[in-house]
Amino acid sequence: MDILSKLKHYAQTQPQSIAMKTDTQTITYQELDMASDSLSVFLEKRCGKNKYPIAVYGHKSPFMLIAMVACVKSGRGYCPIDISVPNNRTQMILKQLDSPIILATENLNCDFKEIISLNQMKKIIETTEPISITENWVKGEDVFYIIFTSGSTGQPKGVEITVNCLNNFLHWSLGLGTAPQEKSKKVFLNQAPFSFDLSVMDIYTSLAAGGTLWSLTKTVQSDYKLLLTSLKESKIAIWVSTPSFVDICLTDKSFNSDLMPNLELFLFCGETLTNATAEKLQQRFPCAKIMNTYGPTESTVAMTEILITPEVNARENPLPVGMPKKGTTIEIRKPDGSLANEGEKGEIVIIGDTVSCGYYKQAEISQKVFFTPNHNQNQIRGYHTGDKGYLKNGNLYYCGRIDLQIKLHGYRIEIEDIENNISKIADVANAIVIPNVKNGAVKSLTAFIVYKKTIEDSFLISQKIKEELREFLPEYMIPKKIVFLDSMPLTDNAKANRQVLGGLSS
Ligand code: AMP
Repeated sequence: MDILSKLKHYAQTQPQSIAMKTDTQTITYQELDMASDSLSVFLEKRCGKNKYPIAVYGHKSPFMLIAMVACVKSGRGYCPIDISVPNNRTQMILKQLDSPIILATENLNCDFKEIISLNQMKKIIETTEPISITENWVKGEDVFYIIFTSGSTGQPKGVEITVNCLNNFLHWSLGLGTAPQEKSKKVFLNQAPFSFDLSVMDIYTSLAAGGTLWSLTKTVQSDYKLLLTSLKESKIAIWVSTPSFVDICLTDKSFNSDLMPNLELFLFCGETLTNATAEKLQQRFPCAKIMNTYGPTESTVAMTEILITPEVNARENPLPVGMPKKGTTIEIRKPDGSLANEGEKGEIVIIGDTVSCGYYKQAEISQKVFFTPNHNQNQIRGYHTGDKGYLKNGNLYYCGRIDLQIKLHGYRIEIEDIENNISKIADVANAIVIPNVKNGAVKSLTAFIVYKKTIEDSFLISQKIKEELREFLPEYMIPKKIVFLDSMPLTDNAKANRQVLGGLSS
């Protein structure tokens, strides 16, 4: 059964179960199903033959979920955009998408498209009969969602995930760590904003299991007391987050099995899970399983898995990211394109049934990284991840990047995306951004800038540059430190010497 059929099934068999809960709002399966049916009827009428994906703007809430489900029920993919994305970047995404309309559950300024506001959505839902037109639903190779990630050109790029990709992913994620039936009706943690693909792991695995999505909003996550109270109240059984987020929680001693006695499984993805984090979790939650998974947005969240038992944690350092799921193979390719031997490092290439069909309207960039394997089996695609790794005894080990992409506190960032945006600021002649790494993880960013004018007060100009950047980049992409240089140090072939600057940044 695909995800939309499952939703309908739960709306009929457990109508009053809570599908999603935040600190202020809840929605049952029946309410979600009926409201999304009504809104999808409106979308079909309003957008007619235009099958372009629809932007859904807002922050984790039942209405954002209703809007997303309504889009796919009307036969259109959706693109979630969180309120934390600055307005200029949001506009860039909206222009690229060219949605017929925008469903905005929060205030949004956009003068080139019609916006359906939260109040309008409520009115539509109240006044439109909830008819379920299953023939309209997205299916097969239709796009289910588009998630934008940082792009090296300074423009975000939209990863298209099809219905098949999502269903194949869910088939696997439901069985991660515990059997699918053991996940039935359980509470799942939602930490990531809906515009990050990690959220797909909790939103749709939870909905596919008839579970409750316990969503931690920005307000709750920014107040430690509220966060702990929410976790205590939650009855969370399946924890889905980046390791960075659990590290924040672990700084409080009360984060243990007394706080969350129902916790059965930690699911991690998105960045390196360290032995130290796994060990602390094993001590504080002795009955919970820990699962490390790996994958990029381009292959639908994740596609490798390994259970981190105390034995694995004692034996392996660094921890592996595990074995690929059924339907996916991993190849390690050397720079000349040949296959690496066991234990030999190279680029991680993913071939499987969850690989995206490409970047939205970006054929040129897509061609560089996506490919159709020779055997050309239906719906099997390949993707060059740009990640470095090696295989040993069937397990994949992740060893960083072959390019300038980084992860900072779980966020994926193309360094050139920041550099391009700094270079656009008036009086900036040249800019290079260097990640500051401690114990193998990026802790912050330093920007080295050659400024065209004489600098009298570097603090003031740094603040001004950061302020301007905030109009285009989310907060996590703003360099913490700015260093002004008279000229950029160069390598022998006249490129900015990142190595020298790396030494200056610590
Ligand atoms: P995103 O598209 O935001 O999910 O980021 C994908 C990138 O995060 C991958 O290409 C890796 O570089 C990194 N990543 C994902 N999972 C892991 C993991 N388990 N361990 C280390 N890095 C990871």
